[in-house]
Amino acid sequence: MVDSYLPYGRQTIEDDDIAAVAAALRDDLLTTGPRVEAFEAAFAEAVGAEHAVACANGTAALHLTMLALGVREGDVCVVPSTTFLATANCVRYVGAEVVFADVDPDSGLMRPQDLSRALEQAAPRQVTAVLPVHLRGEVLDLPAIAALADSAGAVVVEDACHALGSRLLQGNAEVPVGSGRWSSASTFSFHPVKTIATGEGGMITTPDAGLAERLRRLRSHGMVRPPGADPWWYEMAEPGFNYRLPDVLCALGHSQLAKLPRFSAARQALAARYLEALTPLATAVRPAASPEGSVATPHLMCVLIDFAAVGRSRRQVMEALKDRGIGSQVHYIPVHTQPYYRARYGQQDLPGAQAWYDRTLSLPLYPGMELADVDRVVAALGEVLGLA
Ligand SMILES: *Cc1c(COP(=O)(O)O)cnc(C)c1O
Repeated sequence: MVDSYLPYGRQTIEDDDIAAVAAALRDDLLTTGPRVEAFEAAFAEAVGAEHAVACANGTAALHLTMLALGVREGDVCVVPSTTFLATANCVRYVGAEVVFADVDPDSGLMRPQDLSRALEQAAPRQVTAVLPVHLRGEVLDLPAIAALADSAGAVVVEDACHALGSRLLQGNAEVPVGSGRWSSASTFSFHPVKTIATGEGGMITTPDAGLAERLRRLRSHGMVRPPGADPWWYEMAEPGFNYRLPDVLCALGHSQLAKLPRFSAARQALAARYLEALTPLATAVRPAASPEGSVATPHLMCVLIDFAAVGRSRRQVMEALKDRGIGSQVHYIPVHTQPYYRARYGQQDLPGAQAWYDRTLSLPLYPGMELADVDRVVAALGEVLGLA
C-alpha cells in the first residue's frame, strides 16, 4: 500500500459542510443575506466576544481593524517579526510605520520584554497599536502585553489567525482568544490551513459596539442607510472597501464552526502524540516551547532542529521528507528581513526571530490525520536526520 501524501496543513471538509453550501446556493441571496449575521453570532458566542464582523479574509480583517481604529500616516505600530507578512503590511496599508519586535527563540512568540524593547526603540514617537500574534495557536502573555501597551498609550489588536479555539488560563478559568478581555479587536482567518476553512474568509471580534459598527461600514464601501430614509438612499462619510464575506462562505464557516470542539481535540491529540514520539530524537529535534498558561488549539507543529549538528540543510531535510510523502513548511521568514522592510527601515538585528527561523520546521498537523500518521512522520524524520 502506498501511504497518502501528508501536507503540513489542510482543510477538513465533510458531507454536511457540502450540504450547507449547497443549501446556501439555493437561497435568494448569495451575499449580504441572513447567513452572514448567523455566522457572526455563532462565532461571537464561540469565542465569548460581544461582536463579530465577517470579512473577505484575515488580511482584510487586519486592514479593516487598522482603518476602524483610525490608525494613519504618522502613527507607529509594533509587530513581532515572526509572523505572516499581512500582520505588518496592514500597518503600511494605512500609511503608518512598523516597529518590529523580537520573539522568544524557543516559542516564536513575542514576550513582554520584546515589546518593552520595541517600545523603547519607537520612542519618542507615540505608538498607536501593538499587534501580538498567537503564533502556532499558542497564546502569548496577553495580560502583560496589554499592560505594557496601555502604559505606552497604545491599543492591542490580536492577530489570532492561528488561534481560533485557543484559551489562556487565568486562575481556574480559561479565557478564549477573541473574547476581547485584553484587546480592542482580534482578527481570524479561514484560509484552508487554519482551524476552520471557508477557502478565503476572515472575522474580527471586538468588545466595542462603535468599533463593530465602523468595521461593518468600512467592509461595504463606507455606505450607510439611515433608518427611515428613502428606499434608494445611502450615504458615505468615508470611503470603505468591498471586503464582504458572501453567504455561501458564511454557510460553510458556520457549519465548520460547529466542529471546532472536535477539530481542537483532534489537533491537541495529534500534538500530544508528536511530543511523545519525538522524545527519542531529542538530541537533535526539540518541539517548540509553549508559554505558561497557554491552552492551545495547536495550529502548527513546529519543531526546532539544529541543522548544522545533524549535517543536513533544511532544504535537504524537506526534500527527503517530501520523497517519503511528507510535506513540511517554514513559519516564518522574519518579516523585518523582507526586501521591502529592509529598504524602508534598514538592516535590523532581531536575534530571537533569527534563531527561531534558523531552526524551525512545521510538520503535518490537521484533524484529518490519524495518530499513526504522526508516528510515520516522526519515523521518517528520524531516518532523514540519520538518527534512526
Ligand atoms: C493566515 C494569516 C493571516 C492572513 O489571513 P488570510 O486569510 O490568508 O488573508 C494573517 N496573519 C497570520 C498570522 C496568518 O496566519
